[in-house]
Amino acid sequence: MCGITAYCGNGFALPFLMQGLSKLEYRGYDSAGVTTIEKGALQTVKCKGRLKNLEDKLQDYKLEGHVGIGHTRWATHGIPSNLNSHPHSNDDETISLVHNGIIENYRELKDELIAKGYHFQSETDSEVVVQLLDYYYDGDLFEATKKVLKKIEGSYALCIVSVFEPEKIIVAKKDSPLIIGKADGAYVAASDIPALLAYTKDVYFLDDLEMAILQKDKIHFYTHDGKEINKELVTIPYDLEAAQKDGYDTFMLKEIYEQPHVIQETLRGRIADQKIILDELQGIDFHQYNRVYFVACGTAYHASLCGSQVLERSTKIPVIATVASEFRYSDPLIDEHTLAIFVSQSGETADTLAALRLAKEHHATTIAIANVLGSTISRDADYVLYTCAGPEIAVASTKAYTTQLVLLILLAYYVAQQLGKDVDFKTIQQLNQIPQYVENILNDHQLFEQYAKMLETLHDAYFIGRGLDYASVLEGALKLKEVSYVHADAYVAGELKHGPIALIEEGSVVIAVATQPHIAAKTISNIQETIARGARVILITTHGEEVKNVENTYYLPDVTPTLQAILVAIPLQLLAYYTACIKGCDVDKPRNLAKSVTVE
Ligand code: GLU
Repeated sequence: MCGITAYCGNGFALPFLMQGLSKLEYRGYDSAGVTTIEKGALQTVKCKGRLKNLEDKLQDYKLEGHVGIGHTRWATHGIPSNLNSHPHSNDDETISLVHNGIIENYRELKDELIAKGYHFQSETDSEVVVQLLDYYYDGDLFEATKKVLKKIEGSYALCIVSVFEPEKIIVAKKDSPLIIGKADGAYVAASDIPALLAYTKDVYFLDDLEMAILQKDKIHFYTHDGKEINKELVTIPYDLEAAQKDGYDTFMLKEIYEQPHVIQETLRGRIADQKIILDELQGIDFHQYNRVYFVACGTAYHASLCGSQVLERSTKIPVIATVASEFRYSDPLIDEHTLAIFVSQSGETADTLAALRLAKEHHATTIAIANVLGSTISRDADYVLYTCAGPEIAVASTKAYTTQLVLLILLAYYVAQQLGKDVDFKTIQQLNQIPQYVENILNDHQLFEQYAKMLETLHDAYFIGRGLDYASVLEGALKLKEVSYVHADAYVAGELKHGPIALIEEGSVVIAVATQPHIAAKTISNIQETIARGARVILITTHGEEVKNVENTYYLPDVTPTLQAILVAIPLQLLAYYTACIKGCDVDKPRNLAKSVTVE
């Protein structure tokens, strides 16, 4: 997910590698390392923590090689530690590599290699690649790489060096970015453009299932089968700041657009043959629980509200979703028959952590849903499931939310499956189509830009929905408040006439979500009540609902009602985003807010 740099040229490799890694820091990471080839031997320096730690450690070494690779790791397999940091080498230290991504079938490959007598030093999925290279190496690193690529499944950007062929770097890519630069007297590579810009603006974009061999004065491109191909050299027209945002105006927009990819990553390897696979939860007997708690804050709480409804419906176990800051002081009913699920993007949220510790004191079984590997909540919980959203930089959460929804829906059906209940296979199968549907909704972005103009001069907005849609509108209202400072409240649509409708007047804007067929008609009736009092409405619904008099209706793709909770998040994010832009707000860093709330 994070940073790779590589240098092959006339100059020293280290300065390029380090400046590149520092340009990639914005992607988030937990450890860093470099390998250079020094007089025919590999020299690797790596450590857990910030780049500064690596810089300090490098003081004790004199790395003057002209070929080298660098890495910042955002751990996915194995905690952040010195040993798990990249680069990884084979036993006799003749081949070294850096890897971004996830090797999905690493477990079986590792077992095969262990059976052949290989020893592993780290817990990472990546190490399997270097050991396989060792296994296949027979005098030609390129040939060995081709064989390895046939064996590995998953996502990767790989940069490989070897003392046997010290003048070159072999790179390969699938579902993880890798860009190659043509610099003065060198070819360089990195996982993102900012790392290259100080050296060159002339780049080649490596596509999926392509490889390249970099030498100081030449480069050759190949398909994974070894067929040589030509690539076009492209000159980057923009500056560093813009490059870090990958051409997007803000991190929030970039992260909104990353959702198809990160949802795919979160699903990866978790559905097979109409079954949900959550190996991380192996060993739990779900029959022992008579109550489930979901505990979280902010956006993660809204994801929990959705997850709790799906879990209760599919397992028939009573479920309570609660805000962590309330849970910890409410003397909750917890014992050894309680399953408690804690959801936090950062895995460091102070209230959620305190709630987790309380649940453990009372002997509940605890599961963490987190995005940051090795975070405190993920370490403290009995079990952990990771969303694969990658680093989220914008303060307002978008991709972490939708990946939490995906994982919580998987979890709900997994528990049902383990309890021997009937599982909704249609929903499970359709999960695989969600990335494409999200993509389609993103293509309609101009529509939401238009809707946002309705909110430009308003102080208030009203969100309404029922059931799962209520969880969605709570999140939609929160997003709008966070980034645009429009005061937005979310109401259960049926509650409108018990009070809030008093606020509706000529020109009020009501954002309604009606995606659940059994109650959509009711919400749509509630909309009519607001229109009769002068409201302008944005309705997000599904085809087949009868809608009259509504100024703006957006129809979501046709998926099962449960999955609409994921899709509807996208229009609501875009609406909040464009409202903030129109109002000139600092979208990525809203006032008074912090990304990771580590205080009570
Ligand atoms: N999956 C690899 C690991 O956990 C690479 C992670 C990354 O892309 O930084 O070490």
